Amino acid sequence: MSHVADQFNKAFKVEEMKTEISSRLLALERKLEIEGLKAVEIEKCKRDISEIKDQIWTAQKKFVDFNRMSIEDGSSMSDERKICLKRDIPAYPKYTLSQETIDYLKQPTFDIWHWEPNEMLSLLEHIFHELGLVKEFNMNPITLKRWLLCVQENYRNNPFHNFRHCFCVTQMMYGMVNLCELQEKISIEEIGTLIIASICHDLDHPGYNNTYQINARTELAIRYNDISPLENHHCAVAFQILSNPETNIFSNVDKETFKRIRAGITQLILATDMARHSEIIENFKSKLEGKFDFKNKEQIDTLKMVLIKCCDISNEVRPMEVSEPWVDCLLEEYFNQSDREKMEGLPVAPFMDRDKVTKPSAQIGFIKFVLIPMFETVSKLFPQIDDTMVEPLRLARDRYEGMKEQAPTQK
Ligand code: 5GP
Ligand code: MN
Repeated sequence: MSHVADQFNKAFKVEEMKTEISSRLLALERKLEIEGLKAVEIEKCKRDISEIKDQIWTAQKKFVDFNRMSIEDGSSMSDERKICLKRDIPAYPKYTLSQETIDYLKQPTFDIWHWEPNEMLSLLEHIFHELGLVKEFNMNPITLKRWLLCVQENYRNNPFHNFRHCFCVTQMMYGMVNLCELQEKISIEEIGTLIIASICHDLDHPGYNNTYQINARTELAIRYNDISPLENHHCAVAFQILSNPETNIFSNVDKETFKRIRAGITQLILATDMARHSEIIENFKSKLEGKFDFKNKEQIDTLKMVLIKCCDISNEVRPMEVSEPWVDCLLEEYFNQSDREKMEGLPVAPFMDRDKVTKPSAQIGFIKFVLIPMFETVSKLFPQIDDTMVEPLRLARDRYEGMKEQAPTQK
């Protein structure tokens, strides 16, 4: 029998095949091992590239951005550290505002590009005095100046999410307070909450959105468990600034009032996460079904959330010469992010991809499906915004649609 087996083996070269197969297996195993190593190496390289990019960014900040928080590495916020002012108020000159500027500041047509950072600080300071917030909260006017400076220092020089964006959102909020005559409808404390939340709503924005934070598993995403990491951070920085007595504009309010204001500001900043857009709008619509009750806290809270959302994304409400440069700023920030995502092998959203987006394509959908429906809903409660806010949106939509037809591929 074994003889037959021998002959069979010889005839079919089983031994040779065995050797061949084992050597091929060995080669495959080696290859797998090497590929595995390669994958680890690639991951390491990606991490190194990421770290180097962060280091370059941080190093650049040291030169470019005098507006940094006073921690050594400047790359992240530490809960244990207090945020201190880098400059003090003598470095912030006093401007006398003309009556024309004071009146113009209440309009959505205000040219927000016309002002230097120090002038924007003066304009914000004026808003606080004019609305009676300094009096209401018994603020020390010097502390108010220091607080504004410190807030400015904690906005980064991003193309879009910078101190000028903070100024725009706040100025639009001031415009809406006036236009909708909110002072006659809600308390001065609520107005203060709206203005302060607008000023603080994008503090220390790193220039990369929540999707990036979550996909890249950044420190912020880990700290906030992927739940609105940026908005949680903006809010935490706001209260870190207020925890420093030098910059605490609420040092003279009682504990209960501070508790209410803190809850209000937190609710508003967290409401600016666009991931919550439909939830907030639907909630507001349900409150509009009956007669809106300006005495009901829950209803006012929903209205406030919608108002800060309106102001946050209100660039297209402004005249074309004012709004259009913001689209370039936004796209620059988007492209920065998508370039980095491509380099790091992370998913890239098509609306951020420089190969897929054009200015009209970025704006038409946003105006038609986000801005107009939201402002039209608000205009049911405040019909006076139809001419000043909704109509400019319709014009902007038509203009971008015209632009798309003329140059369909224009970047
Ligand atoms: P923010 O990040 O400023 O708190 O939230 C607003 C978000 O809405 C921005 O990050 C941006 O993605 C989007 N957004 C705001 N304004 C515009 C705009 O004019 N066009 C487009 N396409 N998106 C906008
Ligand atoms: Mn914003």
